[in-house]
Parts: sequence; structure tokens; C-alpha cells
Amino acid sequence: MSSELSYVQPTANSPWGTYLSQVDRVVPYLGGLAKWAETLKRPKRALIVDVPIEMDNGTIAHFEGYRVQHNLSRGPGKGGIRFHPDVNLEEVMALSAWMTVKTAAVNLPYGGAKGGIRVDPKKLSLNELEKVTRRYTSEIGIIIGPHTDIPAPDVNTNAQIMAWMMDTYSMNVGGTATGVVTGKPLHLGGSLGRVKATGRGVFVTGREAARRLGLDLRGARVAVQGFGNVGSVAAELFAEAGARIVAVQDHSGTVVNQNGLDLATLVPHARDNNGVASFKEADRIDDEAFWSLPCDILIPAALEGQITSERAKTLQAKLVLEGANGPTVPTADDILSERGVLVVPDVICNAGGVTVSYFEWVQDFSSFFWDEDEINVRLDRIMMNALNEIWDTADKHKITLRTATFAVACERILMARKERGLYP
Ligand code: GLU
Repeated sequence: MSSELSYVQPTANSPWGTYLSQVDRVVPYLGGLAKWAETLKRPKRALIVDVPIEMDNGTIAHFEGYRVQHNLSRGPGKGGIRFHPDVNLEEVMALSAWMTVKTAAVNLPYGGAKGGIRVDPKKLSLNELEKVTRRYTSEIGIIIGPHTDIPAPDVNTNAQIMAWMMDTYSMNVGGTATGVVTGKPLHLGGSLGRVKATGRGVFVTGREAARRLGLDLRGARVAVQGFGNVGSVAAELFAEAGARIVAVQDHSGTVVNQNGLDLATLVPHARDNNGVASFKEADRIDDEAFWSLPCDILIPAALEGQITSERAKTLQAKLVLEGANGPTVPTADDILSERGVLVVPDVICNAGGVTVSYFEWVQDFSSFFWDEDEINVRLDRIMMNALNEIWDTADKHKITLRTATFAVACERILMARKERGLYP
């Protein structure tokens, strides 16, 4: 029985390679369910689509689009859509698999899926962006739907893009299907609290991890990589709790201020100036130096593969909160655990986004909308319950939080697989 797939060639630290090694690490803790573990190493379904559009200058451009449904044992597929020039099948497979684990870790009734288009959205006009989104949605329309697979925002996608997706799908089926995507604008069936949910979840899990470590958030030094929806919101919540945001890195560069960056000015500055680099009330440092800065908490909230073995050796934080998906490669994970650095893994740390996506989907079906306090209270409760269960599992087996999260999640996924049985 081999888990090699003919259509991808993962390397040890590539996204799918990283995911496979995370699965290998959990197999010894699955008992009799290990018999079903191979299912985790094979996406159920992967669709590659051509996305042609007429550009504003009259030429025709083609983009490659993907939607991968990794596992649907526990419910419909769920997971975001990413627009990025580096998107490829292997990456989308890994991201979809992490969604399977994430939705099971917080016990949402979903499987895992992910999609993306290999495109640099910064190079498109608004008109071109809408065309790419609509054509892609129409192409993947054969496998998505409110009861089959529900996309959401991810890197470089937002509520406007979800509105175009919802409209395109709805036009094709001949009725307004708000439940086909989450992360929509509020007046189109979106949910209060969704925009900030991922950053909020990073904060909630981080606060609990800090408490258990005996690390006081007041005065704690926080470094953040990625200042989009996840990194900036998490930074604001840590600052509100009394922490100092000492460094922020994004695609434009790295800024540092050991007295604490003023987020009330940095957040609008980054939005209006295409990044943090030109922020005046901070020192600009070399990007690589970010990884050895003195700090207590590090929040990687950008892309995969950022914490390499080299960076894991020099990193000074006591606590790493994975706001991004797949930011730590397996060899770096081992180094961090040997060095006593606690890592709250992506598959629980950033699960706040999909949790409020679930609330949005439930609200859409019942056409009854909750207030923001109710959403935040429920989000906090789900994240805390999940984290406590994972922590107990980690203590019981003396394993990392990542392997413990996989243990809790994979048991649920494979139990569902077993109980459903193989068809035919
Ligand atoms: N893209 C987000 C994630 O990686 C959210 C997915 C969702 O809300 O479905 O978890």
C-alpha cells in the first residue's frame, strides 16, 4: 500500500510533504483506526480548470484554477479560495488537507477543501478581477454548492470576491444561494464578526497558551509576520491586552520598535501605502533579521514554509502562534520542540475563521442572524474547548500540540470513515 500519488512530487518541506509527515507522526496514536489512515494521504477529488478572460487591453489571458476536496467524511467540503502567483495543485492539496484536520479539531460538521487561482491580483484591474472570479466560480460550479462544498476568503480574497462568487453561482442555479460561500458582505447573508474571526481565534488560543506557560501578556513582546486580515487583527487584540507589538513584517519589508508599534497609525498606514515598510515611527531592518529578534510571542500569519530549520535555531520567542497555514516545516518543528518553544499549530490556532464561517452558514440556512456578542462568546467557547481537549491529549501521550491536534481530529475523521463504510 503506497501513498505516492502520480500527479504530485512533494519534497520533505513542501506543503504536501509537510502535511504527509504530520500524518505519519499521528498514526501511532490512532489505535485500530490506523487501518484507515491512508485515506488522509489521498485527496478525494481535485479539479483543475482553465480560467480565460478578456483583459482591459483586449488580449485574452488564461489562468490556472483549482478546487480540491480533500475529505468529505464528516460533512460538506469547507475552505478558502486563494489568489496568488505561486498557487499550484500541490499547495492547494495541502491547504485542503489542513482544512479537513482543522474542521475536525474544532468539531465543525465539515470536511476539508481549498481552492485557488494562480494569478497576481495586484496586476489586475477591478474589472479583470471580477471576470477572473466569475469565470473561475462558474468552472468549479460543478463541484461546489451549499450542501457539497462551501468556499470562503483566504490569501488575497475578500467579501467583495465572495459576493461575486455567490452571485455567479446563484445566476447559474437560478436562485439566490447565500449558503454557497461564507465571508460575504453583511447585507448578502454575511455574519458579524467574520472579518476579525481568524485573528480573534489566534488571540484566544494564544492567551490560553500564554496563561499555561506563565507568560504575562502585559508587556509581552510580540512579532508578527503578515499584516493582512489575520496578522493585523491578532496584533490589535494582543496590544489591547497590554502586549507590545515590537515587529511587523509584510511583503514590503520589516519594521521594528522595541517600545511597541502604534497600531492605530500603522494599520491605516499599511492599508494606504501598500505595506508597512514606509512607516516612520519605526526602524526598518533586514527581512531575515526578523527571525532572530528578541520577542516572547511570534505570530507567522503569512504563507507556508516560513519557519525553516535555520530560522527555528535562532528564533527567540517562547511561544509561536500559527496564524498562517503550514508556516513551519517538519524539521523546524522538531528543533522548536527540542528548544522548548511552544507551537500552537495552525489547525487549531487559525480555526477561528472557519468557525465563524460555520456560524454564517447556519445563519444563512435559518435566515436568522445573531448579534456580534453572541458570535464572539460562541467562538471563544468552541476554541477553548477544542484547545483544552488537545492539551489533555498532548499531556497524556507526551506529544506536541500539533500531533495532539492531529490525533483528536484524525480520530473523528477516521471514525466517520469507518462508520460510513466503503461504498459499494
Ligand atoms: N481560509 C480560511 C482558513 O484557512 C477560512 C476558511 C473558511 O472559512 O472556510 O481557515
